[in-house]
Amino acid sequence: SIQHEKGTISIHTENIFPIIKKFLYSDHEIFLRELVSNAVDATQKLKQLASFGEFNGELGDLKVTVSLDEEAKTITISDNGIGMTADEIKKYINQIAFSGASDFLEKYKDKTDDKGQIIGHFGLGFYSAFMVAKEVEIVTKSYRENAEAARWVCDGSTEYELTAAERPERGTDIILHIAEDSEEFLNKGRIRGILDKYARFLPTPVEFDGEVVNNTTPIWTKSPSELTDEDYKTFYRELYPMSEEPLFWIHLNVDYPFNLTGILYFPRIKNELRFQREKIQLYSRQVFITDEVKDVVPDFLMMLHGVIDSPDIPLNVSRSFLQADTNVKKINGYITRKVADKLNELFNADRKGFEEKFDDIGLFIKYGILSDEKFWERAKNFVLLKSTDGTYATIDEYREKTQANQTNKSDTLVWLYTTDRKQQDAYVASATRRGYDVLLLDNVIDAHFINALESKLEKVQLQRVDADTLDKLIDKDISNDSVLSTDDQTKLKELYEKTLDNKTLTITVAAMPADEMPVTITQPEFMRRMKDMSALSGEQ
Ligand code: ADP
Ligand code: MG
Repeated sequence: SIQHEKGTISIHTENIFPIIKKFLYSDHEIFLRELVSNAVDATQKLKQLASFGEFNGELGDLKVTVSLDEEAKTITISDNGIGMTADEIKKYINQIAFSGASDFLEKYKDKTDDKGQIIGHFGLGFYSAFMVAKEVEIVTKSYRENAEAARWVCDGSTEYELTAAERPERGTDIILHIAEDSEEFLNKGRIRGILDKYARFLPTPVEFDGEVVNNTTPIWTKSPSELTDEDYKTFYRELYPMSEEPLFWIHLNVDYPFNLTGILYFPRIKNELRFQREKIQLYSRQVFITDEVKDVVPDFLMMLHGVIDSPDIPLNVSRSFLQADTNVKKINGYITRKVADKLNELFNADRKGFEEKFDDIGLFIKYGILSDEKFWERAKNFVLLKSTDGTYATIDEYREKTQANQTNKSDTLVWLYTTDRKQQDAYVASATRRGYDVLLLDNVIDAHFINALESKLEKVQLQRVDADTLDKLIDKDISNDSVLSTDDQTKLKELYEKTLDNKTLTITVAAMPADEMPVTITQPEFMRRMKDMSALSGEQ
């Protein structure tokens, strides 16, 4: 019979290795990100040790060097950081998924609550080297006094070799002997490209081919009070050299209940829908992770530019996990709130400036209103309605304005709008002559925005200015004395109907003394709207 037993599950490394090699990262180029981050960590740890008096030697110029030897088919990542003793190699390298970075933070957690810029976390990154290398060599010497240099070699099997080595200086070399199927990486341009992508803002200088490839103090790591407008603009140019100057920006900075910093820029986009051209970049402790920020940033803010840096976004996991992650959800909500705050602040501080920017930011605001109920709750106070006469009004202001000259029998206000100033000019002119205001809603998103307004606002109906005759659109008491006889009116109507021969159009003959349009041709609102909306979603 079975005895009650408790135990530890064991892993067969020889079976796990190929899985790590194949599935840890879908992108093989990530190996360089991981090894350079480890090297940066090694320098940052030493800096921290020095700051709490655990290291009293010379720090020197802390840096990481990446070098390529095309002939020997090696890539070497060197640093003059903390190094490892043979025992530390056994602990941190030979034990997969035991993170030296977490171990370090745990050990010194009383000395500092600042996790600083230490990147490592999972204790898996190092093994990504085997995605591209058939053999990995470590030559390292610890910062500790009288430390002996050590050499570790492994060919990707579960066997390793550890020996004494010659290395006069403190620090670590990771030497990758690149496998045949990964020789694409033995190329200067390729390495430079990968470093530009992932290492661009790492906190320790990274040298390749005689040049430092990174900016170690990107502005999002600084406090807003240290920064000028020019700093923000300069950084924007650094990120997107080809773009026009941004309209304004938001400096994100939160450390509870999650950690996040970043800068979001509002680009000038006008009416264009080039949503995805420049993307928001996601970083974790200054390491580039991805520009696929879909779940982290609310949909309607995907058009923004800039960077988000959060160590609390899980990185080594799948997309579906990212969607379900509670931190990611909180971050999403936080960003929405901050953006609403900023817009509200701009609106209150400088109404005129806000109006001037509205052609650019209107698209974000309207998209936000369409996609996020919480955002609507905030935005309904500052979203602007632009009239054909060039004036702007908030929803409340516009309600008041239209109430003043609509003596409706029903208590529903009719807001007239035009989707095409040129094409509908005669209708707009006619409405204006009668003292009605006409909204200009000609943006790509407006067909949806109009529907949203109607469903969110009580007792307001939006009508395209040419949807019917004005007297039918706005039910107002005015005299109905036409200058044409009833007989003439009927004849005229029949003539138009016959000529146009289109059942969806309505012909109305009125010809009031003040009218320049004795005959009005209209098409029902709902038919127009269907067409406008399918135009936006690309159906014809
Ligand atoms: P993580 O970085 O998540 O801790 P890794 O698998 O990337 O895990 O690395 C494992 C450990 O090996 C590190 O935490 C560190 O202790 C040690 N290590 C790796 N590279 C270096 C290096 N260049 N210098 C010093 N220690 C290193
Ligand atoms: Mg690591």
